[in-house]
Parts: sequence; structure tokens; C-alpha cells
Amino acid sequence: MQDMGLLVIMFFFGLAGGIVGRIKGSSFFMWFMISGLIPFIGLLTAICYRFENQELRRQCPGCGHVVKLYDAVCMRCGEELEFPDVAIAPEASIRRRAA
Ligand SMILES: [Zn+2]
Repeated sequence: MQDMGLLVIMFFFGLAGGIVGRIKGSSFFMWFMISGLIPFIGLLTAICYRFENQELRRQCPGCGHVVKLYDAVCMRCGEELEFPDVAIAPEASIRRRAA
């Protein structure tokens, strides 16, 4: 009976992971297997992978290396990066208007 319960849990984790994988344009079956076989980590990986995939990026003005939007320092040349205006439209526009 305990094995049945585990199978049900694995199935639902697999289903959730598969759906997440499908949403991000990857294979439902692949993420179903990963999330089902390693329930918590697999599902977490599916979710994180999706975010990673859709993460906003930008180019370092110093060396042209593509970095994450939220990076404060370029990983390649060490250039300090200002947070770009385009990425924080609402708050930045308010602040600019006030100043
Ligand atoms: Zn750089």
C-alpha cells in the first residue's frame, strides 16, 4: 500500500513537471520522467529551468558579453553595470519624472 502511495505522488509530481516543461516549450514526457523519478528536485528543476530560459538579458557595454539583467557586475570583464532603464519601466519612469 505504501508503494501505491509513492507511485501516486511520483505520478503527480511527474505531471506537474511535465506541464511546466510543456509550457516552456520543452518535452512533456522528458520532464514527466525527470519530475516523476526525482519528485521534488525534478519539479524544482523544471520550474527553475523555465525561469532561466525566460530571464531577461542584456549586453555588457564594456565587452559585449551577454549577462543577466539583475547582474550588478559583468562576469567577464568586471564592468560595473547600471540597472538598465528599459527593464524597470514603471518605477524608473516615476523616478525620472520626479527628478
Ligand atoms: Zn563585460
